[in-house]
Amino acid sequence: MSTTPTQTRHDQHGRYPRAESVEDFRHNLATVQQRIDAACQRVGRDPAGVRLLPVSKTMDEAHIRLAYAAGCRLLGENKVQEAHHKWEAMQDLGDLHWSVIGHLQTNKAKLVARFASEFQALDSLRLAETLDRRLQTEGRQLDVFVQVNTSNEDSKFGLAPNEVAAFVQAMPRFGNLRVRGLMTLALFSAAPEQVRACFVRLRQLREQLRQSAPAAVQLDELSMGMSGDFEIAIEEGATVVRVGQAIFGARSVPDSHYWPDAAGTR
Ligand SMILES: *Cc1c(COP(=O)(O)O)cnc(C)c1O
Repeated sequence: MSTTPTQTRHDQHGRYPRAESVEDFRHNLATVQQRIDAACQRVGRDPAGVRLLPVSKTMDEAHIRLAYAAGCRLLGENKVQEAHHKWEAMQDLGDLHWSVIGHLQTNKAKLVARFASEFQALDSLRLAETLDRRLQTEGRQLDVFVQVNTSNEDSKFGLAPNEVAAFVQAMPRFGNLRVRGLMTLALFSAAPEQVRACFVRLRQLREQLRQSAPAAVQLDELSMGMSGDFEIAIEEGATVVRVGQAIFGARSVPDSHYWPDAAGTR
C-alpha cells in the first residue's frame, strides 16, 4: 500500500452539487466509477468485483427518473415507506429495482416482501421470520445482507460481531431469504484509520464465518462504504458500495435524521 493512506472524503459531506440533468448524473456516475477503479487498482482488485449501488433516499421522483435515464436500474433507499411510494409511482419503469438498506421494523416487513429486490439491514431473527413468512405469501424470494455493527456505537443498528455466527446458523430455516453477505456502516469519522478498522472487522468476521456457515448461506458479499469512505472500503474488500450524495448531490435533510449521532462526529 502507498505511504499516504487513503483519506475519507467526509469534508465533502453536504457539499456535492445537486444533479439536475441526465448529463449531471452521467458525469457523477462516471466520476464515482473512476474513484472505484482507482481504489481497485491500488490493491490489485478487478473493478468488476465491486457493484455500485446508487442511494436515492430523500430524492424526488423527477430526480430519480433522471438517474434512471442515466442508466441506474437498482436504487438504495433506507426508509421502507418512502421506497414503497417511489416503487408505486414509477411502475412504468418496469426494470427499476429497489434495495432497502435501512433498519426495518417488523410491522413493515410486509411492504419489503411485496416490492424490494434486496434487503441489506437484516438484524434480528424475529424480522427474518416475519419477512420469510410474508415472502411465502407473496410467492417471492429476497436477497438479504446481515447488518453488523462494527463501530460499536449505540446509535447504529446491526448485530454485534459476536452474535453473527449463531444468527447465520439459523438462516437455512428461512427458505425465502437468500443470504448474500454482510453489511455495515463505518464510524462516521474523518479519521481514516478508525473508519478502516470497521471495514477490516467486517472482512475478518466474514472470513471466520465462512469456516462454519451452513452450505445454503452465501457470504460472498461485503456491502460497505458510502460517499465519504467507499475507497477505503474497497481497499478492504467491499463488493457493494452504497453511494448517495456523490451521485445525486447533497441531501437537504440533515444526516442526524438518519444517524442520530452523526452531527457530533464530523
Ligand atoms: C444514506 C446511506 C448511504 C449513502 O450515504 P451517502 O453519504 O449519501 O453516500 C449508505 N448507506 C446507508 C445505510 C445509508 O442510509
